[in-house]
Amino acid sequence: MENCLFCKIIKNEIPAQKVYENSTCIIIKDIDPQAPMHYLAIPKRHYEAIHQIPAEEKHICCDLFDSISMFLTKEGLDQKGYRLVLNSGKNAGQSVFHIHVHILSGREMHWPPG
Ligand code: AMP
Ligand code: ZN
Repeated sequence: MENCLFCKIIKNEIPAQKVYENSTCIIIKDIDPQAPMHYLAIPKRHYEAIHQIPAEEKHICCDLFDSISMFLTKEGLDQKGYRLVLNSGKNAGQSVFHIHVHILSGREMHWPPG
């Protein structure tokens, strides 16, 4: 997508702190961290939201969570505890309309979220 920030980061047209990459996704540091550790896991295929992924491409979700899982273990976040957040739509707080999962860790989390 031409004007999508995350597509540009994936194509290295805009710099970002990539901490993990494979053929299906990237994980970057969030530019405005809300926890001591705050990353964004972003599938390389552009969809605005998970409900827009067509049936034949549902593997995108599985690939993304597999990658997140590997990253969590590699970084030791599986031991610290972590929260995964996926905002979808303006009311839910989505500001970049390319699927991404927030990975938050390093502090105590509260519930319900704001
Ligand atoms: P959301 O509001 O759920 O759509 O999340 C978008 C996230 O992208 C926010 O947490 C922003 O801080 C983050 N963000 C925006 N621009 C950049 C950037 N250039 N590099 C890294 N993270 C960014
Ligand atoms: Zn995109």
